[in-house]
Amino acid sequence: MSYINDTISFVRDTFESKDFIPLHEPNFSGKEKEYVLDTINSTFVSSVGAYVDRFEEMMQEISQTKKAVAVVNGTSGIQVALRLVGVKIGDEVLTQALTFVATANAIAYNGAKPVFIDVDLDTMGLSSKAVQSFLEEYGELRENGCYNKKTGNKIAACLPMHTFGFPVRIDELIKICNNWKIPVVEDAAESLGSEYKGQPTGSFGEVGVFSFNGNKIVTSGGGGVIVTNNDALGIKAKYLTTTAKQPHAYEYVHDELGYNYRMPNLNAALACAQLEKLNWFLEKKRGLAKKYEEFFKGADAKFRTELPETKANYWLMCVELENRNARDIFLKETNEAKVMTRPIWELMYKLPMYKDCLKDEQVSAKFLVDRIVNIPSSVKG
Ligand SMILES: *Cc1c(COP(=O)(O)O)cnc(C)c1O
Repeated sequence: MSYINDTISFVRDTFESKDFIPLHEPNFSGKEKEYVLDTINSTFVSSVGAYVDRFEEMMQEISQTKKAVAVVNGTSGIQVALRLVGVKIGDEVLTQALTFVATANAIAYNGAKPVFIDVDLDTMGLSSKAVQSFLEEYGELRENGCYNKKTGNKIAACLPMHTFGFPVRIDELIKICNNWKIPVVEDAAESLGSEYKGQPTGSFGEVGVFSFNGNKIVTSGGGGVIVTNNDALGIKAKYLTTTAKQPHAYEYVHDELGYNYRMPNLNAALACAQLEKLNWFLEKKRGLAKKYEEFFKGADAKFRTELPETKANYWLMCVELENRNARDIFLKETNEAKVMTRPIWELMYKLPMYKDCLKDEQVSAKFLVDRIVNIPSSVKG
């Protein structure tokens, strides 16, 4: 099909390459080598070091939150964030089925059950309307929170995810969840630098989590960060992720089951160098998005752009195809031409470990699964 060949040529021209073009490559054109080498020369490569502190300070500023706690990866960050807001074994957590598996896994690691609610067609993230309808049907407010009146379980948290860096309607979700006494944790793993009504994603919920995995907008090799405006939760986050150790001059006092989830200084050094260039990354991404937007105008593939009142980081850019068949042809032809494209994730309740989870109709999620494809989104230079 001709628009697919045109797309392949356009991507090749844009990335000035005749070779394989990946979906997302990291870019180390700043002080990455200098900072990483510095940790080796100083011997402070592990979980204590100046770069960890610096990284946390940078993240407090970028996310406009009071406390940032560096962790080994985004998944462990979400796991701990859910525990911080009180999620316990047997509880239910409202989230979207259209997400990367880590979102659901972080719930399951707490012994809790994901409940899959539909997304909005335009944001591709958790739908406030669908959450509201679910709670009207299943929710029951009690003294100590919200319960699912059909299963008897507590609905202990809501975990929306900002898909590919496009912000969800986070203010509406928080309003609804406040009415139902459900704390909100933001899976902002993909949305570093994105804003909703001028405020950074990750800073709206009780707790937010970003990922610094190798494929994200900026990377620490592997890593994550927990952010919050709640001082007590910030202190608790640090404590739980550093083996739940009470400060003492020489004794080992661990008074709760904690985790060794602290980010090593080596990784924090890489993250600091990358964060120094965050605005540059965002500008480059937005520039590429503009080019794609122009190119795809009037084409059979619709390029997804940010919604009014939001700023997307354009981490992974995507197009919407006509139907599943058009999607399959697009995927086949682009990948055969060594231009990497990927479908959006499989819906979580299709995975064997989540097949029995409670879910709603998923009308929008099913529509998007059949049509959304990621296209090369790296920053060059
Ligand atoms: C990347 C990602 C995570 C997890 O991050 P890791 O650092 O890879 O553990 C969680 N949720 C979503 C939606 C992600 O894309």
